[in-house]
Amino acid sequence: MKKIIIIGGGIGGLCTAIALRQKGFEAIVYENAPQWKPLGAGIVLAANAMRVMELLGLDKDILPHGKILHNMLIMNYKGEILSRTGRLEYNAGFLANTFTIHRAELHQLLLKQLPPNTVHLGKECTGFREEGKNVTALFSDGTIATGECLVAADGVHSVIRKQLIPETEPRYAGYTCWRTVIEGQPAGFDDQVATETWGPQGRVGIVPLKGNRIYLFICKNAPYHDGQLASYQAADLLNYFSSYHFPVPQVLGMARGAKLIWNDIIDLKPLTRFAFGKVVLTGDAAHATTPNMGQGACQAIEDAWVLANCLEKYESVTEAFRQFEQRRLARTTRIVNDSWRIGRLAQLERQPLCFLRDWMMKMIPEKVNQRQLQFLYNVKLNV
Ligand SMILES: Cc1cc2nc3c(=O)[nH]c(=O)nc-3n(C[C@H](O)[C@H](O)[C@H](O)COP(=O)(O)OP(=O)(O)OC[C@H]3O[C@@H](n4cnc5c(N)ncnc54)[C@H](O)[C@@H]3O)c2cc1C
Repeated sequence: MKKIIIIGGGIGGLCTAIALRQKGFEAIVYENAPQWKPLGAGIVLAANAMRVMELLGLDKDILPHGKILHNMLIMNYKGEILSRTGRLEYNAGFLANTFTIHRAELHQLLLKQLPPNTVHLGKECTGFREEGKNVTALFSDGTIATGECLVAADGVHSVIRKQLIPETEPRYAGYTCWRTVIEGQPAGFDDQVATETWGPQGRVGIVPLKGNRIYLFICKNAPYHDGQLASYQAADLLNYFSSYHFPVPQVLGMARGAKLIWNDIIDLKPLTRFAFGKVVLTGDAAHATTPNMGQGACQAIEDAWVLANCLEKYESVTEAFRQFEQRRLARTTRIVNDSWRIGRLAQLERQPLCFLRDWMMKMIPEKVNQRQLQFLYNVKLNV
């Protein structure tokens, strides 16, 4: 039985541990955080990620805690529909094409799948070294962990990636994001549909969650790491969006007093490699993407399944990691690039450009959206 070290206990690291353990590997997760906090807002998992959940046998545990939506709409600030994605007719054969859940709840559900002592908290990895047949992870508390291979699932700022490719740095997309979860929904709210509203003041996402809650996100163009934005409250944001269509101002009004999570939006310019001998990069460590397609975690979940299957099929770790890279590089590169471009369009501010964009989006034939969905959903997961 191979002992596999996983650095990072995010969605990607936990799914990888689950998938590897199901294949009979001894997978151990080392996570920097000293304890789990109920952090995060909502998350949308698309059909491709939900298919992996089904393959892992997790669907029965996860589905009751989230919500399957019928539709995702992109609208302009007047409330006109620019595009529909994830419509039910594309959903044939899929468990759920748009599933929403609170991140903290998803994380807890994933953790529950792992036996005790699989995840070690308070373990800040500082790097690794290869020693003969083994790889050893080094931690800031002076301890080490040795296994036959190492999976880096330590996110966009991955220390493992920095050791392997020091020149890679996350890039700022030019916009910043606030997120929160609101208890309650305004009267007249359609809780079967997620919406993203694009307008000259910025972008607002409203995503129904189970339990009469809403996951709200707001993206605005801003300089990188503008400290003033950290103190923004929902009331400050409402000033920008009061002229937007129903239910944007109403939902923002309900967010008064809610704690906002604030992040600049960053990604990684696509890499040309994920496999480095007995070390492999996965999830955001390998292909962090802007959230415009809602695919970052979905891709980390796909990685988990494909990686476990490669390690099961190929006796040699280096070969398994090479095969993983071959299967994952082109797909994740396309998603990172497409998502970056969508972000550029979504964040247009000048009225004439917004008007032109909106007009063009309304003209795009349904089959173009359908092709994109087919690319996302009809992923080949078998190895
Ligand atoms: C605003 C926003 C909205 C998003 N919405 C969606 C969405 O709707 N759907 C979707 O699919 N994706 C979404 N994403 C993307 C998604 O959040 C990420 O792609 C996903 O969380 C990546 O998972 P990961 O496990 O690879 O990395 P992470 O979630 O970053 O996890 C990495 C883990 O490694 C740990 N770690 C870091 N450094 C070390 C170290 N040195 N030693 C040990 N541990 C370490 C961290 O503490 C963390 O727990 C969104 C992202 C943003 C910013």
